[in-house]
Formats: sequence, structure tokens, C-alpha cells
Amino acid sequence: MNAFAHPWTRAGGRGRCRHVGIHTYNLPPTATRIAMKTDTEWGYVGEEGPTHWADLSNEFCACGGDRQSPIDLPVHAAAEETLALSIDYTKADGTLSYSSYGVKMQLKGGTLTLDGTTYELVQFHFHTPSEHQIGGRSFPGEMHLVHVSESGHLVVIGIFLENGKTNSTLAPIWSTFPEVETAPPIPFDPSDLLPPSRTGYVYEGSLTTPPCTEDVTWLVLSEPLYLSDVQIEKLAAVHAEINVHNSRPVQPVNDRHVRFVSLHPAPRLA
Ligand SMILES: [Zn+2]
Repeated sequence: MNAFAHPWTRAGGRGRCRHVGIHTYNLPPTATRIAMKTDTEWGYVGEEGPTHWADLSNEFCACGGDRQSPIDLPVHAAAEETLALSIDYTKADGTLSYSSYGVKMQLKGGTLTLDGTTYELVQFHFHTPSEHQIGGRSFPGEMHLVHVSESGHLVVIGIFLENGKTNSTLAPIWSTFPEVETAPPIPFDPSDLLPPSRTGYVYEGSLTTPPCTEDVTWLVLSEPLYLSDVQIEKLAAVHAEINVHNSRPVQPVNDRHVRFVSLHPAPRLA
């Protein structure tokens, strides 16, 4: 079912999400839908903050749902199963912009195939600090690589950002800060962003920003991407210009199963 034709039947649910029916607004093309701007103001603190998102607009009703992201991921020692995933990223010209939540690069950067379905990489963006946690632990940041299938289902790869050496792959993006919107297109190979991770967490969740649509398969890699202290500080400073920070707090897992998986083939050999 398309996420934007979802019958919200949680009449007894949280907040003011009492209407029952079908959203009927016109569906923009999928790629536009991901970046869809809404007229309703929302943010990360105060009365427009995450605990109020579901109440700000009927369009944000899903923010009060029971399959929301991010979540606190459990600490695992061994993978339960192997994920049928292949990643085929390609170098492309990326366009930088500010979204309503932070720095974003749009590009046609290739595809991934998960369980036989192909998804196109359409953009990646950053959050500071991380949105997901592992065993209650946050990281300094998190990157989200957003992929969309022909039917409009999303797969988002989440990669934690951790303090370490300077990341030269991201340097051309960082050198545009804070003037990202006037930067010329940047040739970029997203496969250079994948850490040598062989394991990750898979679960069914949502966009972590309004409208919090619940049609997202998450793959959060175990291995972080390392950036220097200065790089992380610069990213956080850019986000602070837009919002105080841009991380939604972890949401209840409820009855969802979080799978800890090995990736075969590995996205990138070490
Ligand atoms: Zn995100």
C-alpha cells in the first residue's frame, strides 16, 4: 500500500490523530515525495519538537505510530542470518542543498538490490548527533542513504559517524560549508562512503522526520564511518544554523523484530 494512501485507524491513539479515512492528496513523483516540503512548521525543540510532531498536522499523524524510527538497537554478538543484499553504486554529480532537517546531497548514485527488489539511491544526508543508538549509546553523527523502489518503498542505509581520522571522501562536501546551496555539482562516488561493515541491523520503521511515513526498511550498519573531530564539529555547526540539532529521539520498538544480519556480499571489502 502506498504510504500516502494509508488509512489511519488508530482512533484511540496518541494526540489528535483521530480522523479515520484515506489520505487523498495528489501523489507527487516518488523522488519528490521524499524531499516533500510541508507547510507545517516543525523542528527539534520546544512546541514544534519531536514529541509534538503528531499533533502539529493531520499529515504528521504517522509520527504517533507504533513502527517509528529511530530506535535503540540491541547489542549483538553474532549474526542470525545473511541478508540478500547487493550494492551497485556509481559515480555521479551530486547537488548539495539544505533540507528542512540538514545538509543533503541529491544524486543518481546507482542502486541496491534487497530480496530481489531494486532500489535507486536518490540522496544522502546527515544528522548530528546520531538518531539510532546501540545499547543506549549514541554516536556523534549518522548518515542516511535513501533508496527508493519503483513502487515507492524506501530502503535507508544508516551509517554512524564516529570521531577518528579526517574523511577525505567527504572533504569536497565539507569544503562548501556553510554555502552549500551555491556549490556547483560535485562528482561523487557513494561507494567510497561504505565502511567495511559485514554486519548490520534490519527492521521496519519510518522516516525520522515529518511526515514520519511508515514504509521504510532500515539497514543500520554496525561499523561506523570515521570523521575528524573538526569535520564533525563543522557539520554540527551547519545543522545548528538550521535547528539546534537534527536528531529525533529513539522511539518504542513495540512488537517489531530487529534482525542482526551479516551482509553478503559485503558492501565493500576491507
Ligand atoms: Zn535522516
